[in-house]
Amino acid sequence: MRIAIIGGGIAGLAAAYELEQARVAGASVEYTLFESRARLGGALASETVNGAVLERGPDSFLTEKASAAELCREVGLADELVPSNDAGRKTFIVVRNRLVPLPDGLMFLVPTKLVPTALSRLFSLPTKLRMGLELLLPPRPSGLPDESVASLVERHFGRETVDRLADPLLSGIYGGDATELSARTVLPRMVEMEEKYGSLTRAMLAAHRQMHARGQQNGAKRTTRAIFTALRGGMRQLVEAITARLDPASIRLSTPVVALEKRADGWLVSSGEQAERFDAVIMASPAWVAGALLSPVDAALGEELSGIPYSSSITLNLVYDEAKLGPLPAGFGFLVPAVEGRAMLACTFAHRKFLGRTPPGKVVLRAFLGGMRNEALLAESDESLVATVRRELSEILGKSVLSRTVEPEAAQVTRWRRAMAQYAVGHQERKQRIAARVAALAGLRLAGNAYDGIGVPACIRLGRKAARELVALIG
Ligand SMILES: Cc1cc2nc3c(=O)[nH]c(=O)nc-3n(C[C@H](O)[C@H](O)[C@H](O)COP(=O)(O)OP(=O)(O)OC[C@H]3O[C@@H](n4cnc5c(N)ncnc54)[C@H](O)[C@@H]3O)c2cc1C
Repeated sequence: MRIAIIGGGIAGLAAAYELEQARVAGASVEYTLFESRARLGGALASETVNGAVLERGPDSFLTEKASAAELCREVGLADELVPSNDAGRKTFIVVRNRLVPLPDGLMFLVPTKLVPTALSRLFSLPTKLRMGLELLLPPRPSGLPDESVASLVERHFGRETVDRLADPLLSGIYGGDATELSARTVLPRMVEMEEKYGSLTRAMLAAHRQMHARGQQNGAKRTTRAIFTALRGGMRQLVEAITARLDPASIRLSTPVVALEKRADGWLVSSGEQAERFDAVIMASPAWVAGALLSPVDAALGEELSGIPYSSSITLNLVYDEAKLGPLPAGFGFLVPAVEGRAMLACTFAHRKFLGRTPPGKVVLRAFLGGMRNEALLAESDESLVATVRRELSEILGKSVLSRTVEPEAAQVTRWRRAMAQYAVGHQERKQRIAARVAALAGLRLAGNAYDGIGVPACIRLGRKAARELVALIG
């Protein structure tokens, strides 16, 4: 079976890796990976600058989503996995230019500890009272239509919790807007919880108790895993390790696929002047590219795929000499709610989040900008973006920590255009309609961040699954 993989981001690479494994194990399979850029990895892009690992794209993945660490181990990177430094984990939210820590006991968006929540400066008194009353909410009928994350959170904890918690947390993950994102897709567990318990706080406490009881029953010692896992040399290590295991002749860089045609005997894949026949196609490009390529094959499918919104964002890494700064607040960094009216959405103190990736005495501040509400920033020059971030850092952290006159040793700006899919309200239904149309096109599989999870682990899972399904057809 000849398989074309379109897109050499982590989803396409994971698919290629799986096909290569099958080929080596004797399956009658050949693959060609088409990548429009001159390099593989897509959003995974890291560099070492002045001895510090700088991530242009993702800096890590969630440890509990096993597929990423599993793949790292398979490709020989077990010793390179670095846990997040959770002992120093503290996140701040910017509230009227001041850094306010997230209160203890917050389980994602749900407050579960009375005293820290009551004492927190993050919420006003009316919001705290509302959080108390939330305990009384009755179960919600199941099967109601999807709604936005903002609407779900507001029903439970009020508007201020949307502005100061849900929105900044989700901007930091999706570059997204809580009023647009689908609750059923982004917070599926919470939707289930409110159908069962009503109150999300009661539901979270019950889940916590059950977990604790299960742990005691099994006599198991509680092992706490780090929340995030990174790679010592950056995410590019994963790209390099996978690439080293692929057949170099199967990889076509700087080769965008420009047209697809479905024929009785398979698929015709055109890249520039060349058109080649394949038995199957794994579309691992962004959904908007997949939509454009597939619309001549199936107009309705093309429209569904093109209808998945994407956000654009900017990452900006600044390397400083620690001796020139005042003491940074103890923590991983801060999130900036949209209501603060700033360009920055978040800033990570990267040298603290993962230890051993920055030389001693150096500080790496990684700012995240843009997102659905501020795409215009992508048109600004690097100089202007660096100046904006330095000004905002100085205003938020205080001049005694980072005066505007302290020059960074290095600055790195990366623009990510239409890189992060947004799971808008109704995403689950859209996914079902897409799956039905794909099932009618023999040999087509989709992978990537537009469908079942935005994170690196989900992209790996889908890429490998697409490849396995096609290999299984060989029989
Ligand atoms: C700034 C940023 C920070 C992030 N942080 C995290 C994080 O910390 N943790 C986490 O888990 N996730 C994070 N994510 C999300 C995650 O990195 C991405 O969702 C994931 O890497 C996407 O992989 P992909 O293979 O689906 O798509 P992509 O990486 O976008 O790859 C698609 C590839 O297709 C290629 N392509 C496009 N058109 C064509 C064509 N016509 N022909 C051939 N090739 C084509 C592109 O050049 C690209 O290489 C982040 C994303 C970004 C942008």
